Amino acid sequence: MGGALPREEEGAHRKKEKHMKPEEIELKGRLDGTQRNRLARLLDMLYSPSELAEEVGFDQRQVYRVYIPLGCPYEKDSTGRIWINGLLFKNWVNDHYKKQNLKQNEAFCLTCKKAVKMVDPQRIQEGRLFYYLCTCPICGRKLARIIVRGKPINDQSE
Ligand SMILES: [Zn+2]
Repeated sequence: MGGALPREEEGAHRKKEKHMKPEEIELKGRLDGTQRNRLARLLDMLYSPSELAEEVGFDQRQVYRVYIPLGCPYEKDSTGRIWINGLLFKNWVNDHYKKQNLKQNEAFCLTCKKAVKMVDPQRIQEGRLFYYLCTCPICGRKLARIIVRGKPINDQSE
């Protein structure tokens, strides 16, 4: 076995994309309200990345560049094609992103697997997205936390 590798496909996607940092990948995978509603309709069946992308309403590259690197459950058939179970994906996304229930001055560190205090968060704007960028005080990983409208964070929290 091991003849057909998915590398070629991933490589083809990668070459025209700029390299994303881990915290950008994390942000990119967040779904908006419409996408979350569509996510809820996924069935207990296998979807190809393009089918999944169409069902939820994101670009299929997001599967390869965001969800798989972040560890979403998937399987590979004998030809190296990737299949994703809709139900598992839905649960995984919900679980992965609900960790954002944090105190006002915290961000979630995926390395430490817990909420950590944001130290000197930088406020960043990218288009209509606002977020704080900071460094994990424990492991030094870069962390991003979305700023939700109506739930501002005290910039200089104690
Ligand atoms: Zn950490």
